[in-house]
Amino acid sequence: MIGIFGGTFDPVHYGHIKPALSIKAALHLRQLRFIPNRLPPHRAEPWLSADQRLQLLHMALSGYPDVVIDERELERQGPSYMVDTLASLKQEFSDEPLCLIIGMDAFLGIASWYRWRSLFDYCHLVVINRPGFDASSIERGFDAADYDFLKQRLCSDTDALMAQDSGQILLQSVPQLEISSTMIRDNLADEELIAQWMPDQVYRKLRGFINDDR
Ligand code: ATP
Repeated sequence: MIGIFGGTFDPVHYGHIKPALSIKAALHLRQLRFIPNRLPPHRAEPWLSADQRLQLLHMALSGYPDVVIDERELERQGPSYMVDTLASLKQEFSDEPLCLIIGMDAFLGIASWYRWRSLFDYCHLVVINRPGFDASSIERGFDAADYDFLKQRLCSDTDALMAQDSGQILLQSVPQLEISSTMIRDNLADEELIAQWMPDQVYRKLRGFINDDR
């Protein structure tokens, strides 16, 4: 199975890297693909350029085996709809199941994604916990029809997920890290604080980008 981890990565931090690697190990993924988006459909233009986000991702992930940075959304024109990305991945990896890894915050907003129900034709969903967002809010977070659609797909463990090619949802717990890209962008002046939230070389590179802009 191939794990897909999409995001803006503006910038990448340990809250992306550690949970994604922990899912790779727990689900014995053959490969993990980080997919930075070009134009996130649900938010403002990223703060860093696509090239800067990509450079930081390469730095953060180099050395991890079977981890790939996939540039297909950066190469595609228009908004980065996940359903289009999955369709193109499925064409490339037609014989292998895909699982889309998303944080609980993103999962709670999934019913607003473009053609969101079609995601399940292409992949499983692995939802990871994130500080501030917990599974007890799932029922409240969706209207009744959407909740029913999702509830039928919830599976209890990895074996149940693996038994199907696509369409299942697994809630998987990972070490909790209270870090977000927003916290980094909001605390740039506090060097000691944000240096802890990403690998050293990534932090130094990010500092370089900020200094070049001054
Ligand atoms: P921003 O603060 O700019 O919204 P972010 O830190 O949430 O950014 P994204 O690039 O938007 O990062 O997120 C990509 C994916 O990583 C999403 O599925 C998100 O839920 C997940 N994610 C980000 N940070 C964490 C974290 N600390 N723990 C678990 N999942 C996370």
